Amino acid sequence: MNSKDIILFIKKTFPHKENGIPLHEPIISSLEQKYVQNCLDSTFVSSVGPFVDLVENKISEYCGAKRSVAVVNGTSALHIALESLDVNKGEEVITQSLSFVATSNAINYCGASPIFIDVDLDTMGMSPTALLNFLNLNAEIQNNHCINKLSGKKISACVPMHTFGFPARIDEICSICKNWKIPVIEDAAEAIGSYYKGKHLGTFGDAGIFSFNGNKIITAGGGGAVVTNDSLLADRIKHLTTTAKTVHPYKYHHDQLGYNYRMPNINAALLCAQLENLNKFIEKKRNLAFKYRKFFESTEIDFKWENENSRANFWLNCIQFKSKEERNQFIIESNQQHIGIRPAWELLHTLPMYKDCMKDSQKNALFLQERIVNIPSSAINA
Ligand SMILES: *Cc1c(COP(=O)(O)O)cnc(C)c1O
Repeated sequence: MNSKDIILFIKKTFPHKENGIPLHEPIISSLEQKYVQNCLDSTFVSSVGPFVDLVENKISEYCGAKRSVAVVNGTSALHIALESLDVNKGEEVITQSLSFVATSNAINYCGASPIFIDVDLDTMGMSPTALLNFLNLNAEIQNNHCINKLSGKKISACVPMHTFGFPARIDEICSICKNWKIPVIEDAAEAIGSYYKGKHLGTFGDAGIFSFNGNKIITAGGGGAVVTNDSLLADRIKHLTTTAKTVHPYKYHHDQLGYNYRMPNINAALLCAQLENLNKFIEKKRNLAFKYRKFFESTEIDFKWENENSRANFWLNCIQFKSKEERNQFIIESNQQHIGIRPAWELLHTLPMYKDCMKDSQKNALFLQERIVNIPSSAINA
């Protein structure tokens, strides 16, 4: 199987795209137009309006979470979740190096440093085995907190990420963290519509976050949300994301340092329609994934699939080449043909701002980083 055959198959799968095939594009129907038009007609396009409440209710209901708070993007959702779970300056937060930069940046915004734990080869999410190894080797419990014996710092949270919408072994991760007194915030930015053992991702940990950026499975233009089953935590997050203003008909009193992270009503209107269409998108994306799987079955290329116990949203389909050289050849050729492919992110522990952070071997992350590519994944009629 050479790159040309794969490219030919992708082109056949996405006909009517003579000027190039995007990696992922949003689908905007008349429902989106209707809700956004309603919002425009109401003139409530900004920080107050009924679509924000509507969206928060829809997200909670969809995920089976008690509460959700809609915010301006996934990065701010992560930041506010970390801050609300009491991650402070000079502390450490466990996460994975195979992720989008926002995961570590949000930790950094709190003044904390990431610790990078390796991923599993199959899920591409944080490896519970690697997590437990790290903690057994380097951590101890003091006064009901987890302390890194090497740095002397408190490990104040763990942020596993569900890569491309594939569920990580999140129940094992949560049970390890529970034993070690570490709160879990799931970076489910890519994973709305994905389930592990029948339970929606983002609802296993103390909090979970989603992104509704334009390239994600559903979009608000830009947006994000925090979900949690802890009502007090949700209240704290709502307060912090709305400038920490106390409730009063006209007085502007703010009782702590807050943020302007609230999702504008016009973005919520768009997201409202997208949420109503989400299950339709997922059905189409699963059909496309089945089609890809069948094609790659007869090749030596590994088409990433959901584990048993998992149901993935197939946000971005992912293939794994035998070698870096074959992978690079495919990247070059598909780029020339204007096919939207994407290699994995550069591992976060190699970026200038994170190069001195603590990490384990990163064996699997390095292996995957050199071999995987995302291929066109828009919700089409495959
Ligand atoms: C998209 C994404 C984010 C950030 O979301 P934005 O809405 O772009 O701020 C965070 N983490 C991961 C893994 C993402 O893919």
